[in-house]
Amino acid sequence: MKYLLETYGCQMNKAESAAVEVLLRERSWIPGTVEDADLVLINTCTVRATAENRAWGRIAFFAAEKKKRKFSLVVLGCMAEQYHQEIKKKAPAVDYVLGTFQKQALGLVLDQIEKGTSFDLSEESPVYVFAPTHHEPGAFRSFVPIMHGCNNFCTYCIVPYVRGREVSRKPEAIFTELDALAAAGVREVTLLGQNVNSYKWQDAETTLDFPGLLRLIAQKLGTKEKTATTGIGWVRFLTSHPKDLSDQLIAILASEAIYCRHIHLCIQSGSNRVLARMNRKYTREYFLGLVEKLKAAIPGLSLSTDILVGFPGETEEDLEDTLDVMRKVKFSYSFMYHFNPRKGTPAMTMDEQVPEKTKKARLARVIALQKEISESLMNERIGAVDEILIESLSKRSKKEILGRTARDEMVVLPGEVSQIGQFMRVRLVSKSGNTFKADRVND
Ligand code: SF4
Repeated sequence: MKYLLETYGCQMNKAESAAVEVLLRERSWIPGTVEDADLVLINTCTVRATAENRAWGRIAFFAAEKKKRKFSLVVLGCMAEQYHQEIKKKAPAVDYVLGTFQKQALGLVLDQIEKGTSFDLSEESPVYVFAPTHHEPGAFRSFVPIMHGCNNFCTYCIVPYVRGREVSRKPEAIFTELDALAAAGVREVTLLGQNVNSYKWQDAETTLDFPGLLRLIAQKLGTKEKTATTGIGWVRFLTSHPKDLSDQLIAILASEAIYCRHIHLCIQSGSNRVLARMNRKYTREYFLGLVEKLKAAIPGLSLSTDILVGFPGETEEDLEDTLDVMRKVKFSYSFMYHFNPRKGTPAMTMDEQVPEKTKKARLARVIALQKEISESLMNERIGAVDEILIESLSKRSKKEILGRTARDEMVVLPGEVSQIGQFMRVRLVSKSGNTFKADRVND
């Protein structure tokens, strides 16, 4: 039987979709198309209005397709969690709605679809389950979820409501997965969680926090020899909440070469007043101090961030504070967006909502500044020699390969398909847009 899986949203959703694909392949399902799939799965996101609108559009599209031919339609992910009843009401053609806490029931759903029968899922007890493997066959890069959910309740964010409280994954399960990924030829892993810094495992034998977990992972992977073509050489992690990034963690990142010199550290706003209204639990002074410590401990570190403008109550002065922090930190890139109220969050009903036009104008200013900073940082890197991991052929030419540095910079250079998945030393010689052009360096 054939399946079609569409995924929207964050890396966690992508990792969960990869696990769904593994499950489907184990059951002998093969990829299909809009025209011939026996099963269509839509893994949804509700964090931003645009992702949500797109998912509603796709649900409507496939519901209409179901009038032309027979197939099963399943909606997964955060929208399924938040709008369970609404999806069923608005789109009765959807056969199953599986929220984030019901994804373990997918196996039962597949049993029914394969047998041509159906059942009522409402009896399933909600519990979050880490899927055992997330590796796409043949891929050299993989995600490893280590925790799930969030306890922070930023006032604009829907995540704690749709993904629940923090649950950390058993260390042995993480190590087993890393072994399996290394054996499968994976070269780079990203440890995933809504807030990896608050990873915490406790049982009768073990108490482990995030720095402790990173220490054990570095010991496990770092003792194995990495060559250009074998072994997990790089580890990244996503996402870090600034308030939980401890000195112990900085010390480990500084001392263990397996961790990439890039951290995505979401600031959201540079104004203390706005940060307090967002319930971010840190100040601009704390953030700038943290950046100073990180840069001093980890030479060559690159930082990226998320910036949210137009939050209720944000003034021109608050925006100036954000621009000021951007100038001081010099993020290599930022995910920039303007506030869009999410139903069910406190910010939805806050007073002093910023007019749409003002939000757009402020976002444009933030984007323009980031462009300037990114360009200037890239110019400083011309001539540098660095290591890259080759990811794919370049989209523009089959005679060029595309790689990425540990600092998360995109690089193209002459090469061939057989080099995908290899580490290589290169010299950055020029830039085009946000990608470097490079030459190979033999050493
Ligand atoms: S830390 Fe804040 S923004 Fe991030 S997932 Fe948790 S509530 Fe959402």
